[in-house]
Amino acid sequence: MKRVAVFCGSATPADTRYVELARVVGRDLARRGIGIVYGGGRLGLMGALAYAALEAGGEVIGVIPEGLVTAEVANRDCTELRIVPGMHERKRLFTELSDGFLTLPGGVGTMDELWEATGWAQLGYHAKPVGLLNAFGFFDHLLAFARHMAETGFVRPAHQAIIMTESELGPLLARMAAHEPVQAILSMNAGDL
Ligand code: AMP
Repeated sequence: MKRVAVFCGSATPADTRYVELARVVGRDLARRGIGIVYGGGRLGLMGALAYAALEAGGEVIGVIPEGLVTAEVANRDCTELRIVPGMHERKRLFTELSDGFLTLPGGVGTMDELWEATGWAQLGYHAKPVGLLNAFGFFDHLLAFARHMAETGFVRPAHQAIIMTESELGPLLARMAAHEPVQAILSMNAGDL
């Protein structure tokens, strides 16, 4: 993978491990020569990730809707900052510019991005790996719910492994790099569903 879209929180939790995690991931991606495309803000984990990658000489492309330039404090220090009309263009660029999606701890916006990447992989609108860094067990409840959806029958067996999860970045990136696209709903017919 040459570049990953990284989704993470725009908040700064009181537990400093989260911002530190974003810094470590930013620096590590830069050292591995993997570029970052992200939401383009300077706040919270997003800003920590971007600045750590830039300080380590990495490529960071920020994509921010014009309406959020002030609220999320657009990061003018990025290698490239793209100001787009709205959220749809932001997400389209995340997919277009990246070779995979990496989610770190975050809030509602981060979840929206994770589930869109997952839903679109299942449909076949993209065939890129979807990685979830379950640091400090932050996503344990989410993963339990994902299992619950699968066991109840709402997620088909072919799509149950779309979200790859590890607690460490190295093994997660290795799995993402070796990823095989799933059988997409776009290539199925009603009888398969
Ligand atoms: P959060 O995880 O809520 O701190 O948001 C992280 C990033 O996701 C921010 O840059 C938000 O602008 C972005 N985001 C994307 N989709 C949404 C959404 N549906 N609701 C809120 N934020 C969103």
